[in-house]
Amino acid sequence: MSTPTRITHLINGAPWEGTAERTSPVYNPATGEHTGDLDLASTEVVGEAVAIAKAAFDSTWQRSTLTARAQVLFAFRELLNAKKKDIAALITAEHGKVLSDAEGEVTRGLEVAEFACGIPHLLKGSFSENVSTKVDVYSIRQPLGVVGIISPFNFPAMVPLWFVPIAIACGNSVIIKPSEKDPSAVNAVAQLWKEAGLPDGVLNVVHGDKEAVDALLTHPDVRAISFVGSTPIAKYVYETGTANGKRVQALGGAKNHMLVLPDADLDLAADAAVNAGFGSAGERCMAISALVAVEPVADDLIAKITDRMGKLVTGDGTRGCDMGPLVTAQHRDKVTSYLDSGVEDGATLVVDGREGDVEADGDGFFLKPTLFDNVKPGMSVYDDEIFGPVLSVIRVDSYDEGLELINTNPYGNGTAIFTNDGGAARRFQNEVEVGMVGINVPIPVPMAYFSFGGWKNSLFGDTHAHGMEGVHFYTRGKVVTSRWLDPSHGGLNLGFPQNQ
Ligand code: NAD
Repeated sequence: MSTPTRITHLINGAPWEGTAERTSPVYNPATGEHTGDLDLASTEVVGEAVAIAKAAFDSTWQRSTLTARAQVLFAFRELLNAKKKDIAALITAEHGKVLSDAEGEVTRGLEVAEFACGIPHLLKGSFSENVSTKVDVYSIRQPLGVVGIISPFNFPAMVPLWFVPIAIACGNSVIIKPSEKDPSAVNAVAQLWKEAGLPDGVLNVVHGDKEAVDALLTHPDVRAISFVGSTPIAKYVYETGTANGKRVQALGGAKNHMLVLPDADLDLAADAAVNAGFGSAGERCMAISALVAVEPVADDLIAKITDRMGKLVTGDGTRGCDMGPLVTAQHRDKVTSYLDSGVEDGATLVVDGREGDVEADGDGFFLKPTLFDNVKPGMSVYDDEIFGPVLSVIRVDSYDEGLELINTNPYGNGTAIFTNDGGAARRFQNEVEVGMVGINVPIPVPMAYFSFGGWKNSLFGDTHAHGMEGVHFYTRGKVVTSRWLDPSHGGLNLGFPQNQ
């Protein structure tokens, strides 16, 4: 076994040279090997990074031209595209997802960088000439200053890329704090920003845990926080950040339902349920975890799903398998505990992911795809966000019963309906209380030029990620009323300004 590599912060364009008081182990989930030791930032180190970021914002970046920013973004886009496979390999080594999935995640992040390349157009204000006699009014959007981004383990490249390119394109300086479980992808991507010509100090990577997050949430020079993670932490981040005067968007957890109507193509629905339930070992915020079958389709659907699950290969993500391990041994054990609690609560365990072999060496953190039937609200397998390869079938008797189940669930990230009835699909898109809806599409992740975000306990704050909402989040509006003086403008008038 090789010695774990030290992984550290990148501040002002260079690796941090201090000695960390605390570190955290990083593992290869497919082998269980301890591969890295991550420096965890203290409050002082976060303060150091914020001071550097503020200096970069004040001295250069906020006044950089749109052309200069767009040039950095175009160069970054090219570099990221060229290094896609390298970044994917880093993701697989620390997260465990299979290589093709890791590459797909980088591609989705790349699309946000491509969107941000259009920043000269995206930041265009509006102009009204002659709103009153010789008076013009125009609006502009300006950067906020230093912004903090805190990301989860499950998309170590894509989630940071939802935010960083837009924040930088808008003229802000950034402190990003990646998940401590799989930190290396962000360091590698930060290196590409430097190569693309981004001035040192505009983007800083600070690794850490609660101490670093709290330092960002309370630092007076951090103007805004973008957070993605579990619901309890998202709520905490939103409440603490806003109490400290910051603009906050905090995206939380999920329980995504897929409603299958009796007229649906059941082969298509079974493919979709397996792909969306077990892709990335169910560790996606848009994974389908609750399959709502409107009777009489449940038996047929379960038979088709079980058949497909029997063909899935679980193993080391570098070997062309379908599904990799869970991120840590603790998370695997927590997910596995739901198999017992589901049975105790009265659900039927149709496929037990603890059985069968995996294709990997060592002692990886594996649980194979698992299927429950006869799941009901009130059971922990339904009520909790499991965040693993566990798919639960809930049988309902009608569309209305299925819709009510989805709408009463406290989460509202993503959902999907499978049907061949356009009227039913249209009714669903109108009536369902969820932020992102798929119609015969199981993982409806919006393209970069739309915005990503859920409702209810899946998002705290009112601004979604990327698209125009991202541009608005990272800028503040200003409206200018101007008149160039000429002699006719003299005279006193204490009345409220009105059109003349
Ligand atoms: P997490 O909440 O444990 O961690 C997220 C971030 O918060 C990490 O950077 C972590 O270091 C930090 N953190 C952890 N504990 C903290 C604490 N006590 N105080 C302050 N900061 C803390 O989430 P995770 O396990 O990394 O990611 C999985 C979760 O993220 C799931 O719930 C998933 O649904 C959610 N997620 C949501 C979306 C979305 O768009 N809504 C996208 C991806 C993931």
